Formats: sequence, structure tokens, C-alpha cells
Amino acid sequence: MSKRILITSLLITLFILLVFAFTSNELYYAQTEGDATSHLVEKMSALEESEETPDDAGRLSDMLDVDVTVFGDDGKALSSSLPEVQEGATPDSGDIAEAAAADGNYVYTTPSVNEGHTYVHVCRNIGGTLVRLTAEIISRSRVLVTMLPNLAIFILIDLVVCLLFTWLSTTFILRPVKEFALDAIGNDKKIETKYTELKPVADVINWKNEYVRAAQKSKDEFISNVTHEMNTPLTSIRGFAELIASGNMPQDKMIAAGKTISAQSERLSAMIKQILNYSAIDDDTVKSYDVDISRLIGDVLDNFEPMLKEKGLTMLRRIDENVIIESTHERITEILDNLVSNAIKYNKPNGSIIVTLRGAVLTVEDTGIGIAHDELPHIFSRFYTVDKSHGESVGFGLGLPIVRKLCDRSGWKLSVDSVKGEGTVFTVDFGAAKPNGSDAKAKK
Ligand code: ADP
Repeated sequence: MSKRILITSLLITLFILLVFAFTSNELYYAQTEGDATSHLVEKMSALEESEETPDDAGRLSDMLDVDVTVFGDDGKALSSSLPEVQEGATPDSGDIAEAAAADGNYVYTTPSVNEGHTYVHVCRNIGGTLVRLTAEIISRSRVLVTMLPNLAIFILIDLVVCLLFTWLSTTFILRPVKEFALDAIGNDKKIETKYTELKPVADVINWKNEYVRAAQKSKDEFISNVTHEMNTPLTSIRGFAELIASGNMPQDKMIAAGKTISAQSERLSAMIKQILNYSAIDDDTVKSYDVDISRLIGDVLDNFEPMLKEKGLTMLRRIDENVIIESTHERITEILDNLVSNAIKYNKPNGSIIVTLRGAVLTVEDTGIGIAHDELPHIFSRFYTVDKSHGESVGFGLGLPIVRKLCDRSGWKLSVDSVKGEGTVFTVDFGAAKPNGSDAKAKK
């Protein structure tokens, strides 16, 4: 941060310093040139008023105290006090031609023979003869070179000032940020700040802390629930296993004990499977594709036929054809498996189940035991089971949380409606179905 402040302030001030140096150089040169021109114009007017014949440049130069050049009609110098302009020479022929044609003063500049200097010339026609007065001034580049040592000193001062400014800014301006950061580390409380600029950062940190705390709490609850749920079958398995191992179990009870051990082991492995399913939903690497859910729902429901027969239940299907959505077979199967197996589990003797797919809206309706109104908000929580009296033989309360998590992650709307003693309806709204034309691409 301090490095950034140093570089930024240094760049800004350097830019300003250079602009100032070049501008003042230009202004100084313009002023010098302007002064020399005015001086020469004054001398030229004095010459004209004196009515001297402009013939001998040396004599006129002594009289006016400036360099003089007198030109002939052909634009060649007749005489000049400038040592480098010889008689007959045609210096600056372009300018001389223009000067000869001009009314009044004609002003122009040329480089001087002396290094680092410039000639300022003022020309005028006096009595039919072109006369040129010349003054020597310091050149533009020389002004800049003269200024360079001062510029270097200013740049050095600038560096020191910028370093000081950086130190001040990091010490005073950034101090609240440092204190804020220290406050944010290892602080369980909500972070407050009186600085408006830091408020958005405080909000983000508070939100993040809240999120981490909630995630930690949820993880702790999950572990506690899992261990609790696993404890019951494990105690049962261990109890029976120890009895069998002690040799004290009567032969006739042995078969029942074996069956219990087997049932409890199955329950444990079913629970582990569901926990794994629940965690697998977070796997973002599984890509979605077009799924023909009409066909898939039909296939999944077929698998339930033996169970329905065994329980004496009837199932009605009202499935629209060729409904395509973007998802995976596994997600849709998982949702339907959980909803339909619940509709079977919590049904009444000779009850019925109706599975409907209208567009992209799926409903699973049963004529079962229903769920009390005050229980409804909790049924999607992990390990929540409404009727504990169903005990170990029913479920672990992970089916509906899996359904909810799948829907949440896919952006589908899940809702439930139930009347205690009459039945329950679960609805999954998959959003927009794809146009029928895309069913050709859908996986079978
Ligand atoms: P479980 O494995 O216990 O079935 P779920 O998460 O699937 O777990 O369901 C949570 C609770 O919601 C169940 O214990 C049950 O009491 C209630 N429930 C779910 N579906 C139905 C339904 N169709 N009819 C009545 N109660 C239901």
C-alpha cells in the first residue's frame, strides 16, 4: 500500500514538475525574444527617422549599437556588421524575399554562429533599400540546459517530500485500517467502524464470519446427529453379537438375533449411503445435459411396482410426454425416489399415490397419514422425523433434505402441502422446460 502511494504521488508530482519546467522555459524564451524584437523595432524606427542613407552597414551598426545588414535589389547582402554574412551572400533567401515584399517590419529568427544562441532579425524597407537589424539572444535549448541542475534539485526535493507524504499517509491515514484488520482477526463479535469508507469491508467480514459460524454449527449438529443415529443400530448389533459370542444365547433365539443384526447392519449401510448422497450434491464437476424427464419418471415409477403390490397401494400416473429439462438422470431419480418412497412409507392401507407431470411441474400426491401444520417447516431439516414412534424401522430424516438441497442447487422450486390424516402433496417446479424439438438430443 505504501509503495503504491509513493509511486502514485511521485508520478503525479514528477509530471507536474516537468510540465512546469517546460512551460516556464517556453515562457522565458518567448519573453526574451519579444524584448529583443521590441528593441530592434525601436532602433529601426530611430534609423528611419534619422533619414540616414542606409548604405554602410558598419557605420549604421556603430550608430545604432546593433548588428546591421544592408541588402541590394537582388536580395544579396551589400554590407553587414555580422562577420559571417559576407558581401554578395544570400542569407536566409526565403525570409529576405518575403521581407523585401512586406510592408513595415518583417521579423524572423535563425540559429546564431555562437553555440546556444539565436539571432532575432527585424527587416524594413527604408528609402527603397532593405535593411536588417539583428540581435543575439540565448537559444531555447540553452535555457533548458541552464535550468536542468535546478530541475534535478527539485526532483530530489520532490522525492523527499513524497517519501515523507507516504510515511505520513501510512502512519496516519492507514492506521485505522491496520487497527480494523487487527480487530477483525480472532474477534468473534460483530465488527463496528466509525469510518464510512471501511463500512462495506466490515459488512463483508461480518457476513463472512456469520456464514463460517453457521457452517461450523451446522457441521457440529450434523456430526452429533450422525453419531446419535448410528449409535442405536451399533448398540443393538454389539449387544446381540456379544450374547452370541458368550454362548449363553438359547439356540431358538439365535435366528432372531441374526436377523436383527442383519437388519441393523442394513440400516447402517442405508444411512451411510444417504449421507454420501447428501454430500455428493456439492460436487460441481457433474455437468448437466438434456433429460427427457417424462421417460425417466416412467422408468423410476416402474421400479416401485413390486413394493406397491406388496403394500396394497395403487399408483396413478399423469405424465406429459416429451418434457425435457437440463439436469442429470441421477438428480431427477434421487428426487423421485425419495418423494415416492415417502408416499409409500407414510401411506395408509389401500391408499393411493398420484404422480403428475404437467409441463415442467412434478407433483407426488398421496392419501397417507399427512403431516401436522406445525411440523411442515421442519421436515426438510437434516435428521428430522415427524413421528418418532415409527422409530428405527422408518427413516433417518435425510430423504427430504436431499430433495431440498438438489432443488436449491438447481434453482427449482420445492413446496409441500399436507393435511394431517388425509394426505400430502409435494411439488417440484423445474422452471422452464426445453422446447419439444430438443428431445432428440436428450439422453435415453
Ligand atoms: P425419512 O427418511 O424419515 O422418511 P425424510 O426426510 O424423507 O426422512 O422425511 C422427514 C419426515 O417427514 C419423515 O420422517 C416423515 O415423518 C415426514 N414425511 C415425509 N414425507 C411424508 C409423506 N409423504 N407423508 C407423511 N409424512 C411424510
